[in-house]
Amino acid sequence: MTEKTPRLRDALDGIPTYKPGRPAAAGGPVAYKLSSNENPYPPLPGVMESAVSAAASFNRYPDMACTGLMAELSDRFGVPVEHLATGTGSVGVAQSLVQSTAGPGDEVMYAWRSFEAYPIITQISGARPVQVPLTAGDVHDLDAMAEAVTDRTRLIFVCNPNNPTGTAVRRAELERFLDRVPTDVLVVLDEAYKEFIRDPEVPDGIGIYRERPNVCVLRTFSKAYGLAGLRVGFAVAHEPVAAALRKTAVPFGVSQLAQDAAVASLRSEDELLGRVGSLVCERTRVAQTLVKQGWTVPDSQANFIWLRLGKRTADFAAACEKAGVVVRPFPGEGVRATIGETEANDLLLRVTEAFRKEL
Ligand code: PMP
Repeated sequence: MTEKTPRLRDALDGIPTYKPGRPAAAGGPVAYKLSSNENPYPPLPGVMESAVSAAASFNRYPDMACTGLMAELSDRFGVPVEHLATGTGSVGVAQSLVQSTAGPGDEVMYAWRSFEAYPIITQISGARPVQVPLTAGDVHDLDAMAEAVTDRTRLIFVCNPNNPTGTAVRRAELERFLDRVPTDVLVVLDEAYKEFIRDPEVPDGIGIYRERPNVCVLRTFSKAYGLAGLRVGFAVAHEPVAAALRKTAVPFGVSQLAQDAAVASLRSEDELLGRVGSLVCERTRVAQTLVKQGWTVPDSQANFIWLRLGKRTADFAAACEKAGVVVRPFPGEGVRATIGETEANDLLLRVTEAFRKEL
């Protein structure tokens, strides 16, 4: 007789698995990882020192309330501490947001394609994912999203700029959309790539949150701040949303190392802005070169670019790998390539040039 296995929730059936960006192959030709939208720079000044000093207390639990980091964030962004919540990366906070708002029978809406964690965290909570296709230009279709709202909708993610297309929605269209969404539906502006935005028409979500109690902003230390490995992100939201996030967060989810490093990074903002500026220059160079080579690239406001390659996606990703750069393929759709070190970007551009000639 076969023994019964533990019963698991039906909601877990069919949950897609998160595919992390592949690492660069060890021992191959010079290999660069352009598959996870990481920052190519080492930690900001002060971060290593704070990490070494936090290491002396690894036998202790971290400060569960993240007091120092919350105070620093409150000062930096001009928001009350009660409106802040931290988590293990912004994906951890996003999961708490879904768990705080949606369960079986409820709907969570987002554009598609967008950040691949949205369907996963939605299905884990038992809610129904409602995916609204991007426009032909790979931008959020906010009109279609407003029309898709039902009385079951509990949360809407607007990924701005969008991962993996890099496109951003502008103030007027976002405000128009928010005017149409009922005020008891939480709208989450996921601004993981905020610091890379250069289009002046793209609004700062924190300005929008101030005016609208149903808007929450998600930010992370993983991208511009270069702390992806430490896992710390945060939300800015009104009560009672911020309070719900603090209730649903995994206790002690943000290590002391991560808290201290985040504070040190916030205090090195000049240096941060310099680095982000260099990456944005590289983004412009890469995008302009691609256009010269004959590619159509959506305007990226993030630290990556999107090539809609359709059926050629896998071939292109393989060609990149052969040349020493690992990119992120979405089979049948396209490739997302992070803006990395100049040499890595050059290698990518060599592949795009050769590939374009073959198309
Ligand atoms: N939001 C978006 C749009 C992302 O692309 C990512 C990272 N890929 C995250 C959130 C999560 O980042 P983290 O958990 O490292 O803060």
